[in-house]
Amino acid sequence: MSHQISVMVHTPAHSGLGGALTYESDLAQTPGTLVRVPLGSRELLGVVWDTPTASDEAPQTMQLRKIASALEGIGPLSPTWRQLVQFAASYYQRSAGEVALAALPSQLRDLSTEQWARRLKRKPKVTTAYEGATQTIPTPTDEQTQVLADIAANKGPFLLFGNTGSGKTEVYLRAAQAVLAHNPQAQILVMVPEINLTPQLEERFRARFAPQWGADCLVSMHSSLTPAQRLKNWLAAHSGEARIVLGTRMAVFASMPHLQLIVVDEEHDPSYKQQEGARYSARDLAVYRGQLESAKVILGSATPSLESWHHSRPATAAEPAGRYMRLAMPSRVGQGALPLVRRVDMNRQPYKTVFSNHLLDAMRERVTRGEQILVLLNRRGYAPVLNCNDCGWKSECPHCSAYRVFHKLDRTLRCHHCGFTQPVPRACPSCGNLDISPLGRGTEQLEEHLAELLADVRRPDGAPIRIARIDADSTRLKGELERQLAEVHAGAVDVLVGTQMIAKGHDFRRVTLVAALNPDGALFSSDFRAPERLFSLLMQAAGRAGRDASMRLVSPCEMWVQSFHPMHPLFEALKQHDYPAFAEQQLKEREQATLPPFSFQALVRAEARSQEAAQAFLNAARDAGAALADELLVDLYPAVPMTIQRVANIERAQMLIECTSRKALQHFLAHWQADLHAMRNAHRQVIRWAVDVDPLAI
Ligand code: ADP
Ligand code: ZN
Ligand code: ZN
Repeated sequence: MSHQISVMVHTPAHSGLGGALTYESDLAQTPGTLVRVPLGSRELLGVVWDTPTASDEAPQTMQLRKIASALEGIGPLSPTWRQLVQFAASYYQRSAGEVALAALPSQLRDLSTEQWARRLKRKPKVTTAYEGATQTIPTPTDEQTQVLADIAANKGPFLLFGNTGSGKTEVYLRAAQAVLAHNPQAQILVMVPEINLTPQLEERFRARFAPQWGADCLVSMHSSLTPAQRLKNWLAAHSGEARIVLGTRMAVFASMPHLQLIVVDEEHDPSYKQQEGARYSARDLAVYRGQLESAKVILGSATPSLESWHHSRPATAAEPAGRYMRLAMPSRVGQGALPLVRRVDMNRQPYKTVFSNHLLDAMRERVTRGEQILVLLNRRGYAPVLNCNDCGWKSECPHCSAYRVFHKLDRTLRCHHCGFTQPVPRACPSCGNLDISPLGRGTEQLEEHLAELLADVRRPDGAPIRIARIDADSTRLKGELERQLAEVHAGAVDVLVGTQMIAKGHDFRRVTLVAALNPDGALFSSDFRAPERLFSLLMQAAGRAGRDASMRLVSPCEMWVQSFHPMHPLFEALKQHDYPAFAEQQLKEREQATLPPFSFQALVRAEARSQEAAQAFLNAARDAGAALADELLVDLYPAVPMTIQRVANIERAQMLIECTSRKALQHFLAHWQADLHAMRNAHRQVIRWAVDVDPLAI
């Protein structure tokens, strides 16, 4: 007898073949089974979805094709996994086939049946013994004990609001241990924003769990694995062999049949939001998945996203508590004080001051004592723009509405948006004037400048000091970031200059001073999330200082902020290390303006050769949705150019959709989707368009 089965395949996103396709199979296939199916002249990987029910309309007109084969040796994906995919697809307005197939390792798709058979044979079965160092397991602090008891006794989801250095990671480790002690089959998913920056975390988990569970108890999942590694790790998770999966946002879709705990570290980090394809928030999906699988979810941060903070609000007389349970760990382990925040009023400094004398003195003193310093500047390159002092020519990118950045090291002008690179001209391309000069300053220049300023300073051993720079440029080559971080850890670097890359999560032991130069831009940005991001960046950066108690005895650790607005409430809150005060103030503003989390947003972006064409598409879509939007109280804003309107000669426009009800917004988007697809045919000039639900940047 032959069976009809429906199979999810990855069809091109806008082909209209959104859902599952129906095939025939000689054998019944359990939903979740991986199969190969013919589509056109190709053979595709697919996932058997739910068997079509009798009420489904059988496709009468076409002869059904048969599935080619089922993948041997791989158990079916679980119903909850499929539900997660289905939910993500519908919430983020993509096809389930796209989401499902993107979540599977590419080798499942790319290996032929023969290659797959060979691959199965060499599957190693022996668990390797762990040979690394075993660590002494610390006794939990009172705060950690309390938090762990709360996690054990409640359902969650939990927002672990713990200062930098309060021992959050230790809480994750113990929570995982508790889960495994209760059920040796259990699996734990730990997510980090950027795995490249956190080999330390992997090491800590391994050192804790490998002695008992074997060196293979932990696998990682992130984009820098080779396809073969990714397949191996995926299979370890899918088969239930791996106890712990540690990964970046993509890991939220890992197939883990015995998942019982999900940890999202640094939950506020914007990298949890996928920026292409299905633009999902791995943090939000983690919470959803926890609910689906009855797994506990811990979101951890020293500066939670305002969304999570709001969701974890305590009950008041007027309002019930939020859905998350907030757990706080205010103290740093070892009673270390948080760094003293010192603000330098740049209005009182001589014109063009880069480092105030005070800051410079403090840096000199500390380096002489053998301490390390971090200098944070969120702009790479030498100078953001090159300028002709005669005719006013500026180093605009011919392909983008942006300036090309001056990189002095290789003497290029480089566009950070489209990559267009040219040698620096000797003279002004417009008037021939030889006097062209950099405007503003980036990390390259800062590094050069500091070398001059600190040229006479010596380390305790009499050697000249070493300044290093870490940013997207200095770490372009594979392995370079790890190498440079290792040098900082080893103490070979005295002053580290860098972008936000240096603020995230590193456990530099000898840093006692962190300086942020000119962070003012975010105070007056048109992006309503800019202050939130700045605050968390500065808090994180401050958290890099004084992590080693023995260093703190020598000199109190400090965070310096040079600003033209030193009395801004954001810096006031920073000085007090008072995230709750900052959050309260921001949430009040958001509530008044009905911005998230008090409303829900989606963006439609369109790209075309001309701005008019991009906007025409969006405005037509707006007209098509107007009646339904009205009915559902959804606001559709007119199309506007994006902040950087043109990139690589493509014009970009966007349209904001807002609603105070998430449900109504979802309802609207689901219906409107068809209009958008249909409209595309009448707007041939539109190159692509995409919906971004809960966008992070507007
Ligand atoms: P967070 O993740 O909150 O920044 P960590 O978990 O990394 O904090 O802890 C900061 C430091 O304190 C680490 O070096 C960690 O080993 C140490 N630590 C954590 N908990 C304890 C404890 N209970 N006793 C002693 N040291 C601890
Ligand atoms: Zn000129
Ligand atoms: Zn460009």
